[in-house]
Amino acid sequence: MKDYATARAGLIKQLAAEIRDKRVLAAMAHIPREQFVPPQNRHLAYEDGPLPIGHDQTISQPFIIALMTEALELKGNEKVLEIGTGSGYQTAILAELADMVISVERVPALAESAREVLNNLGYKNVEIYIAKETLGWPEKAPYDAIMVTAGAPDISADLLSQLSVGGRMVIPAGSRYVQELYKVTRQKTKNRVEKLGGCRFVALIGKGAWDN
Ligand code: SAH
Repeated sequence: MKDYATARAGLIKQLAAEIRDKRVLAAMAHIPREQFVPPQNRHLAYEDGPLPIGHDQTISQPFIIALMTEALELKGNEKVLEIGTGSGYQTAILAELADMVISVERVPALAESAREVLNNLGYKNVEIYIAKETLGWPEKAPYDAIMVTAGAPDISADLLSQLSVGGRMVIPAGSRYVQELYKVTRQKTKNRVEKLGGCRFVALIGKGAWDN
C-alpha cells in the first residue's frame, strides 16, 4: 500500500483539475483524512468517495467537500457555521481557512470523537455543539458563511436567518435521498441562488427538516 502522504498528494492532484481555490487545496493537502476515518477504512481514506463513520452517517466525498468549501469564498477572517460535524474532517478544513468555526452535530458520540481528533491535531478555533431543536446555532449568529453537510428538504429559512448580509451558505436540498447543491448569497433584498450540481447526503434531521 502507498503511504498516506503519497496517497493524499495523488488525491489533491486529481481535485486540482476542477478546484481552483489554492487555499482549499493547500488545506486538504496537509490534513490527515485517515485520522477522521474508522481504522478498518483507513486504506480508503484517499479514494474520492464517501465512507461510513458509524451511526448510519458518512464522511463526505473529498471532491464535494472541496467544491462546497470553495463556494464559501473564505479569506481567513470569517466566522463559519457548519451543520453536521460528523467525522470533523470538513471542520478541520474550515478551521484552516477561516478565523472561527462553530460546528453543530446531532449525534453526541460523533461530536465527541470529532472533538478528540481535532484537539489532537491542535485546532483551537473550533467549537462543537450538540444540535438542539432549531437548526443551526442562533446563539452565535450572524455567520459570514454557513456549510450544511446533510440534505435538507429546502433552503432552510432558519439557517438563512443566521447568515450575515453578503454571507454565503452552501446547502444540499431536495428529497431525502438525492439533492441539488445550492449556493445562496444573502443580500439586502433578493438573495442570490446558484446551483452547483447534484449530490447525495444523509438526511438533515430536525425542525424544518426531516423526521428521524
Ligand atoms: N461533514 C461531515 C458530514 C457528516 S454526515 C463529514 O464529512 O464527516 C452529516 C452529519 O449531519 C451527520 O453526522 C448527522 O448526524 C448530522 N446531522 C443531521 N441532522 C443534523 C442537525 N439538524 N444538526 C446538526 N447535525 C445534523
